[in-house]
Amino acid sequence: MDHQNQSSSLGIVIIGSGLAGYTVIRELRKIDKEIPITLVTREPGYFYSKPMLSTALASSKSAEQLVSTNAESMATQLDITILGDADVTAIDTGAQTVATSKGNISYGKLVLGLGADQIRLALEGNAANEVITVNDLEDYAQFRKTIEGKKRIAILGAGLIGCEFANDLVLGSYEVEVIDLAPQALGRLLPEAAAQALQAKLSAAGVRWHFATTVQSIDRNGDSLSITLANGSAIHSDAFLSAVGLRPRLDLAQSAGIATGVGITVNRQLETSAKNVYAIGDCAEVEGLVLPYVMPIMQAARALAPNLLGQATVLNYPAMPVMVKTPALPTIVSPPAKGAVGDWKINSVEGGLEARFESSDGKLLGFALMGTATAQRGALTKDLPPIL
Ligand SMILES: Cc1cc2nc3c(=O)[nH]c(=O)nc-3n(C[C@H](O)[C@H](O)[C@H](O)COP(=O)(O)OP(=O)(O)OC[C@H]3O[C@@H](n4cnc5c(N)ncnc54)[C@H](O)[C@@H]3O)c2cc1C
Repeated sequence: MDHQNQSSSLGIVIIGSGLAGYTVIRELRKIDKEIPITLVTREPGYFYSKPMLSTALASSKSAEQLVSTNAESMATQLDITILGDADVTAIDTGAQTVATSKGNISYGKLVLGLGADQIRLALEGNAANEVITVNDLEDYAQFRKTIEGKKRIAILGAGLIGCEFANDLVLGSYEVEVIDLAPQALGRLLPEAAAQALQAKLSAAGVRWHFATTVQSIDRNGDSLSITLANGSAIHSDAFLSAVGLRPRLDLAQSAGIATGVGITVNRQLETSAKNVYAIGDCAEVEGLVLPYVMPIMQAARALAPNLLGQATVLNYPAMPVMVKTPALPTIVSPPAKGAVGDWKINSVEGGLEARFESSDGKLLGFALMGTATAQRGALTKDLPPIL
């Protein structure tokens, strides 16, 4: 048996039951109904929409209610074997095996859909271990339990996830304070004028902002948390949520000798440096880009599936605007590429704002649309250059 045939007879093993893992499997099944597929995951193997984690509190959705399909139904629908609640502890790229807490598995092709961890800053104080992050359903269930019957929530990080939680929590009648080192909300995505518009709407909804500072320490005093900021002020809160960014999960790849940068390094066929090992989703870095969003995963899965079946296919990224789920001021952003040269042009419209990032010769390189201007999304996206 040559290596190619041996690889396909062993089937495809996917690690991770997030959007990346499951979208690749769906794309594979569109092309090949027969090839054996095994999904190994730390989670039970259910499917849920992760973006709903930051919009489900106001509607009092429980973690169970966010599960759209249980593991058993996923296995039947997709004709796959699911090894759930199983931790992958090592990959042997020579022997083409993965070691899991439930035994070893051989693979013909291996896909790493490992996701990313929320970054946790080292904070001082006796309640530093009470800092909460929400990155999966279990975290969400725990967060709901912690804030039940409480009133005041402090959020570290005014990025996409921090702003979405802030909006969701004020809608759920919580008092919310948001702290960020940057001078504005969504510092990496929005020009100042657009950020100010979002901040004003969220302020009107009850959010209080603490910009250009960070948290120094967090201490418990009875029922309350005392949060000391670097600028000397103090906040009293019942719970503390951290949303300061994501770090791709690299440990497994690194211990297996697979090349990593910010993410697990892959080429445009989603191949890692190890033969027959691929990576996709929040853990992967494609040509220097780590894009931890839904649309890039959809694009990558469409390219990865044929590659896994031996049909060489190159990944392309068109412009992929991201929706910021802040009902106080719905916002859609397509930030200019890193290093793009141009200027933001801001246009206030009735009930909204349109910000265009244009080159000196008038080419559209990015945008932010807010409120009524979000209707321009389709028209403006067509004018943007592809990302890859
Ligand atoms: C609160 C929130 C809101 C968001 N909102 C949006 C949005 O509005 N729009 C948007 O485009 N994007 C949004 N995102 C980002 C988007 O949800 C992610 O890009 C996407 O879900 C990542 O999918 P993934 O499969 O790569 O990773 P994950 O969903 O993290 O899945 C990783 C999987 O790998 C498993 N795993 C990891 N290590 C191991 C191991 N060693 N052994 C076994 N299994 C392992 C995990 O258990 C998990 O099943 C949001 C993210 C969050 C957290």
